[in-house]
Amino acid sequence: MKRIYLDHGATTPLHRDVLPAMLPYYSEAFGNPSSIHSFGREARRALDESREKTAQALGAAPEEIIFTSGGTEANNLAIQGAAEALASRGRHLIASAVEHHAVLDTVNALGNKGYAVTVLPVDHYGMVDPDDLRKAIRDDTVLVTIMAANNEIGTLQPIAPLASICRERGVYFHTDAVQAIGNIPLNLRELPVDLLSLSAHKFYGPKGIGVLFVRRKTKISKLMHGGGQERKIRPGTENIPAIVGLAKAIEIATADVPAKSAALVKMRDYFLAGLTEKIEEVYLNGHPVQRLPGNVNVSVRFVEGESLLLDLDLKGISASSGSACTSGSLEASHVLLACGLEHQLAHGSLRFTLGHGNTLEELGYTLKTLQESVARLREMSFLYKNYRRELKSSCT
Ligand SMILES: *Cc1c(COP(=O)(O)O)cnc(C)c1O
Repeated sequence: MKRIYLDHGATTPLHRDVLPAMLPYYSEAFGNPSSIHSFGREARRALDESREKTAQALGAAPEEIIFTSGGTEANNLAIQGAAEALASRGRHLIASAVEHHAVLDTVNALGNKGYAVTVLPVDHYGMVDPDDLRKAIRDDTVLVTIMAANNEIGTLQPIAPLASICRERGVYFHTDAVQAIGNIPLNLRELPVDLLSLSAHKFYGPKGIGVLFVRRKTKISKLMHGGGQERKIRPGTENIPAIVGLAKAIEIATADVPAKSAALVKMRDYFLAGLTEKIEEVYLNGHPVQRLPGNVNVSVRFVEGESLLLDLDLKGISASSGSACTSGSLEASHVLLACGLEHQLAHGSLRFTLGHGNTLEELGYTLKTLQESVARLREMSFLYKNYRRELKSSCT
């Protein structure tokens, strides 16, 4: 059976040019960049070049790039590191209600350690209102963290105005841009953010490697003790093959973003139009326009998202409900609940995240399969039968 992958929000396959770039650093070029001999210098050169490439792709300077073990570590380092470095100035943090758990749980852990935390609400589309942020900033606020693009519903936040508000008030602004990079243009020369997190495996790079951008002069404490690597902020021998892979992947991901996004939008809109035409009572979650080009998150009434997912998987189609981290748990998504969805719709949510390898043909097959699965599952739903009966009686 041919398998169809529609879960690029969970992870992406390596771009075909990435693995060949990494391989030499797993074999003959295996040196430790801190060694002064030729093996070490060879690894150091790869590290320096990768940092330069990464910086260039983002509009940053090389010394503003800190390599981490991924998006989760980058978020932890940004939030815990800034909170600790600025603790004498103030102990109030602000986050949005729809953040990834790597942000929300980190902020809440600091809340348990005596920090004050404000969680900003979002509108029905999952968007933060800049006025709410303006009102939430206090004299003791030190850090605001709001994601660039949501991993579940795809909603894009108004990062530029949010960051500007923080800049005016002298408050650090961190953004989790893990889902945004490669999908929307990001230029750190123009965007007044102080800290920004990335993860390579979300943009066709390897797993277990990420970036924290730390703008010049931003104060941040380290989380781990050890050697002096990564400007003494992130100790430990650098993962050179992964860093080389990340640099290659980010170079590719940030080239021609508008054209690549437009191609995804075309597939996304075809898929969404097909869904709403073929299946009744399907609702799009997230913002209709300000959303990631490859994200389709829908709630299907009278169907459990998990049941539908299992059915799709049997037919070779890989999608998800909520985020990869929480699917498998039966808790409703905190993101959908923050958008004000009733529990029933939040439980019937499905996320399809398209990537550059997908085709219209795959999406056509997925639509047909979905139509059949939904019909079959609704056959068994008492609520659905009631709904049909009521529809009929209201027509007569
Ligand atoms: C995947 C993801 C993360 C976590 O990144 P890892 O590299 O898997 O730790 C953080 N934030 C968002 C928005 C994500 O999608």
